[in-house]
Amino acid sequence: MDYMNTPVSIIVVEDDQSLGRSLMDGLTELGFHVTWHERIQGLRTEIEQRRPNLILLDLGLPDGDGIEFLESLSMASGRPAVIVITARDRIQDKVSALGCGADDYLVKPFNFLELVARIRVQVRHQEEGSAAPTDLEIGPLTIRLLNREVMRDGELIQLSPREFDLLACLAKAAGDVVSRDQIARVVWNINLNYAGINNLIDVHMSKLREKIDRGRAEKMIQTIRGAGFALRSNDE
Ligand code: CA
Repeated sequence: MDYMNTPVSIIVVEDDQSLGRSLMDGLTELGFHVTWHERIQGLRTEIEQRRPNLILLDLGLPDGDGIEFLESLSMASGRPAVIVITARDRIQDKVSALGCGADDYLVKPFNFLELVARIRVQVRHQEEGSAAPTDLEIGPLTIRLLNREVMRDGELIQLSPREFDLLACLAKAAGDVVSRDQIARVVWNINLNYAGINNLIDVHMSKLREKIDRGRAEKMIQTIRGAGFALRSNDE
């Protein structure tokens, strides 16, 4: 996972071939990361795996109705924004789509630039709604990003600035594996081509481990062979 400069990711769900293709091409050209689905089947898995920012959802699909899918989706927390794109232009259709959790509604045929403007509105809402947290809690560990303080079981742990950055880098990944390359970029602002960076990471990781995990039954900093490192707790 790359949480620096993450591109906006969009899933287009549209069974009309020419519209689906032109949406995918047009949005890709603007720098969005786009995948295109022609049916509902497989969509849920795709959403869980890709965690897109936004879904453009046609309602009349070959294997079901977009509204029903939307209803099932709106129960899940942290779901992507949904803009319904449909030929159904009755007011009841709009009301029911918005009532089922659509964030916006565009009637076909629509202007591509209007769609892009509406996508940007949704992305902006998401950014405003997800202001970065200032405290991170991972099992027994509390990390105060603003004060740069770390506590394990309420006990303050002294870290060097670099060790703190390293821990914060792992913590922000929320248990996901963070690669050496990501660590190099986030913590040292250089890439893995820099000679000696692997050694630098190892030295700091070992000091960090000693301060965070030494003498504790639960080792939170894990080495994932061939992949990188992860900060995890059994308490979660
Ligand atoms: Ca359709």
